[in-house]
Amino acid sequence: MPMPNKIESDSRKLLGRLRDTMAEEAKGQERLDKITLLISSTIGTEVCSIYLLRDSETLELCATQGLELDAVHQTRMRIGEGLVGSVAKKNKVINTADAPSYPGFRYMPETGEERFSSFLGLPIQRLGELLGVLVVQSKTAREFNTDEIYALEVVAMVLAEMAELGAFVSEESGLKALHQQSILIRGSVAQEGATKGNVWLHEPRVVVTNLVSDDPEAEISRLEEAVQELRNHVDQMLEKNRQMDKEQAEILEAYKMFANSRGWMKRMVTDINSGLSAEAAVDKEQSSARARLGQVTDPYMRDRLHDLDDLSNRLLRILTGQGKETGASMPQNPILVASNIGPAELLDYGRTLKGIVLEEGSVGSHATIVARALAIPLVIHAQNITAEALNGDEVLVDGEQGLVHLRPDESVSSAFKDKIAMEAKAQERYSAIRHLPANTRDNSKVNLLMNAGLMADLPSLDSSGAEGVGLFRTELQFLIRNQMPKRSELSAMYKRVMDAAGGKTVVFRSLDIGSDKVLSYMPNVEEPNPALGWRAIRVGFDKPGILRMQLQALLRAAEGRPLSIMFPFIAQTSEFDFAKLEMEKAKERELKLGHKVPKKISIGAMLETPSLAFESDNFFQEVDFLSIGGNDLKQFFFAADRENELVRKRYDTLNLSFLDFLQMIVDKCEKNNTKLSFCGEDAGRPVEALCLAAIGIKTLSMRPASIGPVKNILLKSDLGAVKKIIDKARIDGETSVRKKIIQYMAAN
Ligand code: PEP
Ligand code: MG
Repeated sequence: MPMPNKIESDSRKLLGRLRDTMAEEAKGQERLDKITLLISSTIGTEVCSIYLLRDSETLELCATQGLELDAVHQTRMRIGEGLVGSVAKKNKVINTADAPSYPGFRYMPETGEERFSSFLGLPIQRLGELLGVLVVQSKTAREFNTDEIYALEVVAMVLAEMAELGAFVSEESGLKALHQQSILIRGSVAQEGATKGNVWLHEPRVVVTNLVSDDPEAEISRLEEAVQELRNHVDQMLEKNRQMDKEQAEILEAYKMFANSRGWMKRMVTDINSGLSAEAAVDKEQSSARARLGQVTDPYMRDRLHDLDDLSNRLLRILTGQGKETGASMPQNPILVASNIGPAELLDYGRTLKGIVLEEGSVGSHATIVARALAIPLVIHAQNITAEALNGDEVLVDGEQGLVHLRPDESVSSAFKDKIAMEAKAQERYSAIRHLPANTRDNSKVNLLMNAGLMADLPSLDSSGAEGVGLFRTELQFLIRNQMPKRSELSAMYKRVMDAAGGKTVVFRSLDIGSDKVLSYMPNVEEPNPALGWRAIRVGFDKPGILRMQLQALLRAAEGRPLSIMFPFIAQTSEFDFAKLEMEKAKERELKLGHKVPKKISIGAMLETPSLAFESDNFFQEVDFLSIGGNDLKQFFFAADRENELVRKRYDTLNLSFLDFLQMIVDKCEKNNTKLSFCGEDAGRPVEALCLAAIGIKTLSMRPASIGPVKNILLKSDLGAVKKIIDKARIDGETSVRKKIIQYMAAN
């Protein structure tokens, strides 16, 4: 073990005194005052001040040794304002011999700080979350050396932990414990709905209470033992997953490299020699990795820092003995809070969850697909929520605007109650019309079907009033597993779906993978443009094994009942011919094996690429039906990535260019007697659905929750009148018909 150097022993002394201060019975303010005195006297500076976050945007001078005492709790600055604000904003140290000339300096006259030339400010942060700023200043113009900075970094880390534990909470100053403040976090919507509940952390944070130690030897051996246990665990994981594909193995190897990293270990040993306990040392390194994570944009580096974060969490759990099961029981109306979650884990929670808030995630991620299938409101990109939230905290999830109110104030809570009540009222209205057919005022019947992808969706068939399943996405059963599902498993699942549908039609879509839906157990193909790449039927064409297995599973599951299947992403006739032939062959095979085959098999194609709309009349006659996959069709029509928020919203489905294109498809289907439906997300948006029906698309398939709102509008509308508005807008040369249709809806 290396001998501690001078600065390490100095900082140990300082930490030792800090610990004594922590142990004393004292009020929050008294503690802060003692700490500033302790630091300035030990480090030998005239000034030591502690600024803490008052709310998410303001820092407040909470204690000082050396500045005017009257300024305490009076001097405040916004994040980014002055040198202190800059330290907070950038989460970085500022060290200068000449503070007044430093860019961004702002003079605070009430503090009397003009007498001090040198300035050293350090962020007080835990796991990347800023809690305050620690500042030392002195009259002599000098820069602080690296040893001094290091010693104060260790102190700042301990202060962060103390703040986290509520050590500075004080009634006189009005300082609240960190996790008592109400916070608004802005994220993005992945599944709509407003909901209220209590935080349930998927991975509860480890609480470090034992921060300081004066027995570095004992702490280092604790750390070494824990690291060994961690390494063994990673080795076991690698062993267990030997069979997995190359890419996953590489990820684990990189992970293992970190677990064995000497640099990491060395830094932690230095921290312990400076007076920290083993867990506090892990915590300190984890915090600086998190802070770096905020600044790194390179995806590879970000992944590695995530690895380090994950390893640190495991190490902390070993050291503190706090497992995932902290003994906390799930609160009522749980709202799951996590940095990210896999689809299988989410399915385990199932419908017990009232809502989900994730720090990461994307609109097309598997977790999102599952949350949508379960109709659980989901907000993604909610920055820092796992650091801010504690188990049981009250939380309001606004899945309309992507807002999360954590520990909301009374006024926010009551406004939100109104919002939830309004939603509930609307639901009551929808439930009253559930069993009515969607007949418009001018006696047009529109068929409303639902989209599904899980067994868990099927009960919605009845509760939503859907007339059948217009799109059953079969990829979920493939996505949520670590290995290819077996034919027998698929067949049993499809059978359960058909049984649950009780005779209503279910249109199964053959496996649609590729683009954003990648199977971990399939070789990963590097593609410059995955959305335009090797996906859906193209994969089936080149590697027909999976498609054949799936077709066979469907034929068996039908047990003689009628079967509907459609193939995704058909861009030209030959691809449909191929798929149809595969179906024929599968049927022949089943017959030869002595199995029953369905009485009737309807075979359709999804129209998701503009090219298919221009195929010959022969093609339109050959298919049993066409279903417009509007999500993909729209992205290719406007050349705008459906997953890219920057461009996605620029183009309106109700642009006349797109409606005219859809009208052309409708006309061609009418001419050739081809059944047509629409199953993209737009089918579930009332204004869009009304226009689709008005131009002649009379079968719409959507999320179950959308059936009520869409039916409600259709019942009150006259499709002929809507069609006239569209025709007039075209003559008037308008780009989008949206405004006019909304006016029509408001008037009716
Ligand atoms: C579509 O593209 O509109 C569609 C229904 O398919 P998916 O969203 O699964 O690509
Ligand atoms: Mg699609």
